[in-house]
Amino acid sequence: MIIAVDGPAASGKGTLARALARHYGLHYLDTGSLYRAVGQAVLAAGGDPADEKAARAAAEALDASQIDEKAIRTAEAGHAASVVAAMPAVRAAILDLQRRFAARKPGAVLDGRDIGTVVCPEADVKLFVSASPEIRARRRWLELNNSGSGPSEAQVLEDVRERDRRDAERAASPMKPAADAHLLDTSDLSIEAAFDAAVAIIDKAMG
Ligand code: C5P
Repeated sequence: MIIAVDGPAASGKGTLARALARHYGLHYLDTGSLYRAVGQAVLAAGGDPADEKAARAAAEALDASQIDEKAIRTAEAGHAASVVAAMPAVRAAILDLQRRFAARKPGAVLDGRDIGTVVCPEADVKLFVSASPEIRARRRWLELNNSGSGPSEAQVLEDVRERDRRDAERAASPMKPAADAHLLDTSDLSIEAAFDAAVAIIDKAMG
C-alpha cells in the first residue's frame, strides 16, 4: 500500500503523513528532507545552491541515513532546497532512492510535491494537502522560533510565497495535485481533525 501526500510548504502534510504511517503500520519518508539535505550540503561546503554542478554532485553523494535533522530545518536550508529541487539532474539522482523506499513492504507513506504525479503515480491513495499562505507562514514561523533560528513572521510569509512560486512554476516536476488526488484544505482544521479527514478519505478509497 502506497499513500502519496503532496502539498506546499507548511501545509501540515509532514505531520499528517507521519501520523498516517503510524496508523496504517507503513514506512514513512519525508522527501523534502532529501532536497533540504542536498541544499544544506552545498551550503556547508561553502558553495552556491544555484551552482548546478555542485548541487548535482551533492545529490549523487546523498546518504539518506546520514541526514542532520537539525541543520536541514533552518529557513536557509529550506530556501536552498527549493533552488536545487528545480534542477532535473538533482531530481533524477533522488528519484530512484524514493521509488526503492516506496517499494518496501508492507508499504509506505511519502510526502513531498510530486509523489502522486511523478515518484509514485501508481499510489493507492493520493492526498493534496493545502492551507492559505498566511496560515502556513504562521505555522512555519512558530516551528522556526521553537528551533531558535528566528526570522520575522512577515519574512516567513514572503519566503512561503516565493517557495510556492518556485515549486509550482518550475519545469521539472512542478508542484500540482495529481488528477486523481483528494484535496484536503487544513486552513481551519486542527491536526486531529485533518488526520480524521485523511483517514476517512483513505478508508473510503481502499474500500
Ligand atoms: O517539504 P519541504 O518544505 O521540507 O521541502 C523543501 C523543498 O524541497 C520544497 O520547497 C521543494 O522545492 C522541494 N521538494 C520537491 N519535491 C519533493 C519534496 C520537496 O521539490 N517531493
